[in-house]
Amino acid sequence: MTETTRPLNFIEKLIKEDLENGVVPSIQTRFPPEPNGYLHIGHAKSICLNFGLAQKFGGQCNLRFDDTNPEKEDEEYVDAIKADIKWLGFEWSGDVHFTSDYFDQLHQWAIYLIKEGKAYVCDLDRDQARAYRGSLTEAGTNSPFRERSVEENLALFEDMRLGKFEEGACSLRVKIDMASPNMHLRDPIIYRIKKASHHQTGDKWCIYPSYDYAHGQGDAIEGVTHSICTLEFEEHRPLYNWFVANLPVPSTPHQYEFSRLNVNYTVTSKRKLKQLVDEKVVDAWNDPRMPTISGMRRRGYTPEAIREFIDKAGVSRNEGIVDVSMLEFAIREDLNNNAARAMCVLKPLKVTLTNYPEDKQEMLQAPGHPSRDDLGSRELPFSRELLIDESDFQETGNKKYKRLVIGKRVRLRNAYIIEADEAVKDEAGNIIEVRARIIENTVGNDPEDGIKPKGVIHWVDAAENVDCEVRLYDRLFNDPAPDAGGKDYMESLNPNSLEILSHCKGELSLAQSGIEDRFQFEREGYFTQDSRYSKPEALVFNRVIGLRDTWEKQA
Ligand code: ATP
Ligand code: MG
Repeated sequence: MTETTRPLNFIEKLIKEDLENGVVPSIQTRFPPEPNGYLHIGHAKSICLNFGLAQKFGGQCNLRFDDTNPEKEDEEYVDAIKADIKWLGFEWSGDVHFTSDYFDQLHQWAIYLIKEGKAYVCDLDRDQARAYRGSLTEAGTNSPFRERSVEENLALFEDMRLGKFEEGACSLRVKIDMASPNMHLRDPIIYRIKKASHHQTGDKWCIYPSYDYAHGQGDAIEGVTHSICTLEFEEHRPLYNWFVANLPVPSTPHQYEFSRLNVNYTVTSKRKLKQLVDEKVVDAWNDPRMPTISGMRRRGYTPEAIREFIDKAGVSRNEGIVDVSMLEFAIREDLNNNAARAMCVLKPLKVTLTNYPEDKQEMLQAPGHPSRDDLGSRELPFSRELLIDESDFQETGNKKYKRLVIGKRVRLRNAYIIEADEAVKDEAGNIIEVRARIIENTVGNDPEDGIKPKGVIHWVDAAENVDCEVRLYDRLFNDPAPDAGGKDYMESLNPNSLEILSHCKGELSLAQSGIEDRFQFEREGYFTQDSRYSKPEALVFNRVIGLRDTWEKQA
C-alpha cells in the first residue's frame, strides 16, 4: 500500500478531527533528538511521523535538539543528525532550534515557580532522595527542605547558578505531591548542578534543566500543537501537563504517544550502538552493518525504501517487533525497479575460448535495465580470454547444477553460448583455467544445432575490466532479540557479518559510477560504492542486499 491509499493511523485521525473542529488552526510538530549519538532506524519512524504529519496536513515541523545533558552531547552529532534528516527527504521549518536556546526563559520560569511557592531547593543527596521518594506501593515522604521560604529558595537557587555548590549538593524540585501514585509527580527535580561545558552555551551555565521540565516548555515556546513521543513517556504526561498549567507559557501543547519501532536482529539504542563503535566492533557510526540512518545510507539503502518500510510498519500504540526482512524487502524491491544492471565477477576464474581468434574483439550491447529504457545500454568488450566466477564451473556437475560443466553448454549473459572442454590445474590440483569454445551465432540466438544451454552465468573480459573490492555484509547479530530481557548483545555478534573479497573484476561501466549510484550485479545482488573506502583508482563496493532472502534458509 502506498502512502496515499492506506487508511489514516490514529494520530492522523486525531489531527484531522482537531483541524475539522477548529481545536487548532494548523498543526505544528517537532522532531526532538538529543545530540548524543547518530540517528537509527527507530528515529526514522519518529522523523517520518512528525515531518510526514506536517506535510500531510499543511503544517510545520521543527527540528529541536533536546540538549540538556552536556556531558553526553556533541556538535558532531548535531551535524550528523541534520544531514540524516535531509537525506531522508525532509526539511525542518525555519531555523534549527535548541532547547538550550530557552535556558534563560526556563531559568526565569524556575524563579517564577519559586515565587509561586511551587519550587524549592532540596539538599537531600541521591540516596536520601531515593528513600524519601517511596515506591510504587508506598507513598513518599516530604523532603525536610520542602518548606523553605521563597526568599531562601531564591537565594539558594541563585547560589546554585553562580556555581557556589558542588555537583549533587542540592537541586531544584517542584512541589507537587509526594503521595501521588504517579512517581513522576513526587516533587521531581527540574534543575541539577552540572559543572560541564555545553556544546552550544559554553560555560554560561552550571545548572541544567531536566528533560521533563525543558521538553514541554520548549514545545509551548515553539507553538507545538501535537507533541508526539514514544509510549514510555505516557506516565510523564501528567507532569508535562502540570508544567503547562502552572507556568505562564505562550501556548498549550498536548502530548500523544505511539509505540517505538523495534526491529529484530538488531539493537536500537544509541548507548548500545555507541558501544559497538567505541569497542571497534564496527568501523564507525556509519558502518554499513549499523542500523543507523548514516549506516544504511553508506550500505546503499535509499531514502525511498526506508520511508516505504516505515509506512508499512504503521503507527499504533501496540508494542511489537518488526521483522528486519520487511526492511530488506523494501530495499530489494526499490533496487530491482531502479538499479542499473552490471556484471562483476567476485572470485575470478579464467576461461580461454580456444576457437575465438586471439586478435579479435567484439563490442556487445546489454541493456542498462531489463524494463527501464531510460537507463540506457552498456558496452561489453568480448575477446578470447574471459573471467567467470569460480563457483560457476565444475568439472562434473549434477542435475541441479545449471552452470558450466565439461562437455556441457552455458550461456554467457548478454553474449555467446559456450561449451567447456577442459579444466587446467596447478600443481596443487586447483583449477586455474577453463578451456572452452563459443558456439557460433549464439549472441541473442539459440544454437543452430538445437542443443540448448542449461543456465546463464555472468562474466567479464579478462583484459578490459575494472579491479574492485567487494564487501559482503550480513546481519550484525545472530540472535533475533540480541538485547531482550537484559541479555548481553555483545555475545550474539555474527562473526560472519563482513566478508571482504579483494580481487573482484567488474565490467567497464562501473568505472564511471559515483557514490550512491546503485547497481544490480547480475546474479550476485545489489551493490553501491562505499563512501568511506572507495576511490576512483581503487573501487570498493558494498553489497546492499542479496537478490533474495536467504537468511531463513541458513538459520
Ligand atoms: P535511544 O534510546 O536510541 O537513545 P532516544 O529516545 O533516547 O533513543 P532521542 O534522541 O531522545 O533518542 O529521540 C528523538 C525522538 O525519536 C524522540 O521523540 C523519541 O521518542 C524518538 N524515538 C527514539 N527511538 C525510537 C524508536 N525506536 N521508535 C520510534 N521513535 C523513536
Ligand atoms: Mg530520549
